[in-house]
Amino acid sequence: MSLSIGIVGLPNVGKSTLFTALTKKGGLAADYPFAFTETNIGAVPVPDTRLDALAQIDRPAKIIPATVEFVDIAGLMAGSSRGEGLGNKFLANIREADAICEVVRLFESPGVMHVAGKIDPVGDAETLKLELIFADMATIERALPRIERELRRDKSYELKLAVAKKVLAGFDEGLRALDLSLSKEEREAIYDLHLLTMKPSLYVANIDEGQLDADFPLIEGKPMIPICAQTEADLSELDPEEAREYRESLGLDESGLVRLVREAYRLLGLQSYFTSGEKETRAWTIPIGAKAPQAAGVIHSDFERGFIKAETASFADYVAFKGEAGCRAAGKLRLEGKEYVVQDGDVMHFKFNV
Ligand code: GDP
Repeated sequence: MSLSIGIVGLPNVGKSTLFTALTKKGGLAADYPFAFTETNIGAVPVPDTRLDALAQIDRPAKIIPATVEFVDIAGLMAGSSRGEGLGNKFLANIREADAICEVVRLFESPGVMHVAGKIDPVGDAETLKLELIFADMATIERALPRIERELRRDKSYELKLAVAKKVLAGFDEGLRALDLSLSKEEREAIYDLHLLTMKPSLYVANIDEGQLDADFPLIEGKPMIPICAQTEADLSELDPEEAREYRESLGLDESGLVRLVREAYRLLGLQSYFTSGEKETRAWTIPIGAKAPQAAGVIHSDFERGFIKAETASFADYVAFKGEAGCRAAGKLRLEGKEYVVQDGDVMHFKFNV
């Protein structure tokens, strides 16, 4: 399951700087051997100390964390929704993201021009929201005639039409599609419109070190995650060990970047389960509520198709009884079947037959 988060924001707020901080070797990636791909796409490990605890027990050849993919999406500005500037490419890129990370600027730097002329995070966020709304409005207005045509042939398009109109009406009041608390059926009815304002979003405040203790305004009722993007990016150029020392000397912990990745995970309703043995100790990403076969399917579709059962231990038991054999001896290794709802941190071993 590769999940992808698009980094958006007005020009010069520090998007690319944040992207560098997240993806270069001295950044979050420091603790894991990682290869990065395209210039604007980077896989970032989801920090999880439980992996290290499992590895202490199984001494695997490899440790593989779960990953979140960040995409640096350039080109959002007032007018992007109408395809101005890099607008069209921007819209195509952002449609592919599962969630949106909106960066707003708090750092003051006379040398770096602010597009709106002043530091105004709430105003910047409003501009971003309106651009996303305008883009979705255009999408729906383009789709309406088609939906109405289909409806004449097929009554099942009624719901789609009704939801599309409801979402449009929400836009007039400045509400994102996500703000309308649509039912599951309603969401599914308009799924194929791939609306940008259906994507969950989180906010990053790009601050200077001097602003670490400041109070930040809420954006749409949500707290922003403060990050010193420039400092983090500088640190990411160093060797991991050097970066750690320098970070300590600045009184800066990794909390900003780590929180961002964790928050993204939470926002998307995701959790991890583990597999662990001599070969590798690995975290796998699943939606909260996933049942055992679905979890198995993340490893390989054969595992889901031929699922028989899963030997399962909780993370706490696995550590307390020092691995699978210890759990088995202590009666802590459960045999779970198809209906088992996987819990965060479960250590699982699937039995399957295809
Ligand atoms: P983008 O257009 O949003 O991708 O912005 P960039 O990441 O390219 O940053 C624009 C400029 O702002 C660059 O010159 C950065 O060095 C600078 N910058 C980014 N983050 C910070 C920060 O936290 N503090 C300061 N002082 N400058 C920053």
